[in-house]
Amino acid sequence: MAFFDTVIRNGTVVTASDTMVCDVGIKNGRIVALGEHIEEGSTEIDATDLLVLPGGIDSHVHLEQPTSDGSVMADDFESGTRSAACGGNTMVIPFSLQERGESLLNSVQEHHDRASGKCHIDYALHAIITDPSEQALVKDLPEIVKGGITSVKIFMTYENMALNDAEIFRVMEATRHVGALTMVHAENFDAIRQMTERLERAGHTGPRGHADSRPIVVEREATHRAISFAELVDVPLFVVHVSGGDVIEQIEWAKRRGLPIYAETCPQYLTLTADDLDSMPTEGAKYVCSPPPRDVANQEACWDALARGVFSTFTSDHCPFVYASDTGKQIKGAQESFKYVPNGIPGVETRLPILFSKGVSEGRITLNDFVALTATNHAKIYGMYPQKGSIAIGSDADIAIWDPKKRVTLTQDILNHNCDYTPYEGMTLTGYPVVVMVRGRVVAKDGKPAGEPGYGEFVSRGRSSLVPDR
Ligand SMILES: [Zn+2]
Repeated sequence: MAFFDTVIRNGTVVTASDTMVCDVGIKNGRIVALGEHIEEGSTEIDATDLLVLPGGIDSHVHLEQPTSDGSVMADDFESGTRSAACGGNTMVIPFSLQERGESLLNSVQEHHDRASGKCHIDYALHAIITDPSEQALVKDLPEIVKGGITSVKIFMTYENMALNDAEIFRVMEATRHVGALTMVHAENFDAIRQMTERLERAGHTGPRGHADSRPIVVEREATHRAISFAELVDVPLFVVHVSGGDVIEQIEWAKRRGLPIYAETCPQYLTLTADDLDSMPTEGAKYVCSPPPRDVANQEACWDALARGVFSTFTSDHCPFVYASDTGKQIKGAQESFKYVPNGIPGVETRLPILFSKGVSEGRITLNDFVALTATNHAKIYGMYPQKGSIAIGSDADIAIWDPKKRVTLTQDILNHNCDYTPYEGMTLTGYPVVVMVRGRVVAKDGKPAGEPGYGEFVSRGRSSLVPDR
C-alpha cells in the first residue's frame, strides 16, 4: 500500500517566504512530507511546470447575510463556497450579522445553522456588532470568542448598522478586554446622508450618484477617526476595503507613529473606476459597492501600496446581489434612486485570478507577496496559523495548483456563483487555479466544482497575531 494518500509531484512550491521545486506528500488531510523523489502516493498529481500554492483564504466575504431593505444576497454558504473553491480558495471567513435588537449570541447561532452542512471548503465566521448592548459586549462577546470567533466588525455607515462614536469606543474596549481583533468599515454616515440628499435634490439619482455621494474624503475622515479611537483605547485595528490614496496615507501615518493599524484592499479598487457606475443608464448599478471604485490614480495608489507591503491582505468583499431581480440591484419604479441599490458586488471566484494576472503575471508583485496577501497573512491575522495558510509539515493540505500560463477570459458563463453577472465581464487573465484541495481532498478542478457541500468544516480560531496577549 502506498504510504501517502496523495503526492503532488515536481511542482514549484511557493510560500510567503520561499520558492522551491519539490514533491508534497499528504496523509490524513495534512502535509507530512516535502522533498525530492518522495515515496509513492495512492493518488499522484503531476505538477510539472505548475505552481503549488497555499489555498486562498478570503477573509472578507458576505454570504446569506440578512438585510434590512428586503434585498436578498445571491449566494448562500453552499453556492458561495462552491464559487470560492473554483477560484482557488480553500477557506472563507464570512460575517455573522447581529441585527439591531437581536442577541449577539443568537445571531452567531443563526449563521452557524446557515453554514453547517453546506460548505464546499472550510469556513470561519467574524461577528458584526450593530447593537453594542451591555448583554452583547459583556456577556455574549466572551462566549463567541471562546467559540472560535475572534474578530469583530463594526460599521461607521449604513442605516441600522452604523455605530456612533461612543459605541465604537465601547466595542473597542470590549474587544480589548477579550483579546479579539476589531475590524472597521470606515465611511462617515452623516456626511453620506447629506451628500445623498443634495444629489437627489439636484436630480442626480442614477447609479453614478452612489460614487458621488461618498467621495474618498468621507472614507479618509472615518478612517482617521477610527484610528484615533483605537489609539485612545489601545487596541490594534484592521481597516477593511481601503479604496485609494487618501486612505492609504492615513494607514501609513498611523504605522509611522507606531500604531498597530492594518488594512486590506480588494480587486474592485485595482480594476474598476467610478466611471463604470455611469457606463450605462441603469446597469451601472452592477458596480455599486461601498466604498465605491475611485479613479485610475487611486488604482495606482492601491497597487503601489500592495507592492510596498502597506496592505496586509487582499480580499474580495464578495457581497453578491442579482441584477435582474426585484430583490436585487436594478433601479426601478417607485424606488428610482441609487440609494435603494443594495451595496456590494460578487468577486469571491475572481479575486485570486485577477491579482495573479494583474499583479504577478504583469510583474507588480512577487509570487511570495501573492501568497502572503491571499493566504498566509489571513491565517496569521485571523488566528489559524500554521494550521492554515502555508505549505509546511503539519499544516492542513489546503492547496491550490496553478497553471501560470493558462489564459482565461472572465465571463458570467464560466463562473460558479449564484449571481447573474460579473463586474469583470470580458477581462482576459493569465494564470488560473487548475486543482484545488481542502485537507487533501480535491474540491475544484479546472474552474469547476469537484467536491460536495458539507465537506467544509467550521474552523475555530485562536487569537489574532495582531492582538497582544495581555
Ligand atoms: Zn464587506
